[in-house]
Amino acid sequence: MPVLVMAQKPCATIMNREQMDKLHAFQQTLDKSPRLFLNKAIKYVPIKVHIVGNDKGNGFYKSDLLIASFCKINQDFSPIGVQFYIKGEIDYINNSKLYQTDDNTIYDLSIQYKDNDAVNIFFAGSSNTYCGVYFGGLDVVYIINSCQGINATTLTHELGHFFSLPHTFYGWENKTTPDVAYQEKVDGSNCRIAGDGFCDTRPDYISSRWDCSNPHFLKDPNGVIFRADSSMFMNYSLDVCHSRFSNEQFTAMSNNLDGRGIISQNMIVENPAMPSLAYPLNNDSNLNSASVRLSWNKSEGATMYQVQIARLKLWETAYLNVLVKDTFYDAKLFGNWQFDWRVKALSLTNMCGNYSESQSFFAKAFPAGTEEVLADKNNIRIFPNPSKNGQSIQIQSSTPSHLTVFDMSGREVFSTDILKGITNEFTPNNNGLYMLRFTYEGGEVMKNILVE
Ligand SMILES: [Zn+2]
Repeated sequence: MPVLVMAQKPCATIMNREQMDKLHAFQQTLDKSPRLFLNKAIKYVPIKVHIVGNDKGNGFYKSDLLIASFCKINQDFSPIGVQFYIKGEIDYINNSKLYQTDDNTIYDLSIQYKDNDAVNIFFAGSSNTYCGVYFGGLDVVYIINSCQGINATTLTHELGHFFSLPHTFYGWENKTTPDVAYQEKVDGSNCRIAGDGFCDTRPDYISSRWDCSNPHFLKDPNGVIFRADSSMFMNYSLDVCHSRFSNEQFTAMSNNLDGRGIISQNMIVENPAMPSLAYPLNNDSNLNSASVRLSWNKSEGATMYQVQIARLKLWETAYLNVLVKDTFYDAKLFGNWQFDWRVKALSLTNMCGNYSESQSFFAKAFPAGTEEVLADKNNIRIFPNPSKNGQSIQIQSSTPSHLTVFDMSGREVFSTDILKGITNEFTPNNNGLYMLRFTYEGGEVMKNILVE
């Protein structure tokens, strides 16, 4: 189990006295009026996502994992109708000290980056001591990238802290042993004052990472032997063991959320269809790896798209992972390779879509800069760009070439020889993106025009 070798703790959060007093006061009310939050109206909760890289802008948390994480936390919080969404643009930060989770830098800079009307999550590169932490004073969460892979529960756990939950083993953190009165008993007699103060979470005394397939046996103050409940998100069992919050935990989180005033009203629910890929055509082989334009058809309701390019369909180690708002992306690749690519359509209210079927293309390295030099040398002019549907587009080149125009699906829609100094006209019939290929002696130049 490599995860056990890490010196890192899963979490460095310890709720302070004030936070616990507030929670205990709320927990007293649970005995008087137990509440269930099933089938409640959906609450849309904005998360401001801060992705920290080093000074050179390397090491950013990968966008496909970000999307998978949003899908996961929305499943984990669905029993109380909480649906998280990414608020505005992702905040990319280049700062090596923040990337290494230097405490002073976190305290100096987090407030500066923070959006006070959202949950603030910072994804950072490394920490010697933790996988995630909720800084109560700052009211922000930090997550270490390597601890939030597919199906990880670090983010869910830290959101639990954000919304007021302590660990199920509260009082035992860092291998301390609380006074016997605060050691939670199996019979439930002291469940409101001991441990996490919730009476529907079992006693738990384990403050180091543990594997639920190899359970610890614990003994309570009455001498009763028991096992901690590995399924709770707020314990330290391995991520794979985690599956749930308790009803009381959900109730406390819901109460905390309501008091924050950050729930969005009037979200429009969109479930975009899977996108269909347009260009390059499947198995296209005449592409310049320095710049490959990928395009796909718009999915109704999509507000952004996740684009992946991988070699040999090894998506986990994809060469490129980007989130884009347009229906195209200019990929800068390298070498002579076959690549595979696929696209997922996303909306703010649905991050759980599926990828399109993947397609392949072959790209080869043209001599460096050939395209730019050619474009420059031949003084290509396209006007107006972008243009309107039905409007003719004027195209010039200072040296003779052959022009071929393709639509987004890769279909040839126009072709002509361009003579020196002569203006050619092309009138597109549809909105969208057109690709213009100018063929010269010694190379090609690709240009795009957008028809709105
Ligand atoms: Zn924790």
